[in-house]
Amino acid sequence: MIFTTSMTGRHARMRGMDVEPDLEPALDQRLVDAALAQLNRRWPADEPGGAAALRLDDGEILTSVGLDNLNGGVSLCHETGAICRAYTLNRRVTASVCVYRDPERDRILILPPCGICQERLAMWGPEVQVAVPDNGSATGWAARTLRDVNPYYWGAQFTDDGMWPSQESHSE
Ligand SMILES: [Zn+2]
Repeated sequence: MIFTTSMTGRHARMRGMDVEPDLEPALDQRLVDAALAQLNRRWPADEPGGAAALRLDDGEILTSVGLDNLNGGVSLCHETGAICRAYTLNRRVTASVCVYRDPERDRILILPPCGICQERLAMWGPEVQVAVPDNGSATGWAARTLRDVNPYYWGAQFTDDGMWPSQESHSE
């Protein structure tokens, strides 16, 4: 299930005669809150459950929840639906957050993207921001880039300059 919670994000403000873009940060509390809101819409408060929120390059936020199934082999991560929606819209993903409610310990976990979701997000390059747990911060999360969490990305071995492959090369 995918909800669009914002169609805004790229604003312009006037400064004298100049119009400067006022870009929102890719990963902020609003994106984390969007994931939490999706979690709470989908799952009863006393049950475990998760959700993800992605920010697109125009500021739009997409959310989704994973697919559970009796056959665990066909289940999908929470990010998957929003990733496919972003790709369907032909938009660039700039940030990803995944949250999980652990009712037994009455806490919310911030889940970094699993290895497979890191591969999916790699389509949009090493600067995609992802939320990671950070017990030292008041919010409980911190932003890291895909490059931070995957410094030895295998795909960079296939480019002439050692950079991450372009989005186009993922479609070849
Ligand atoms: Zn995953």
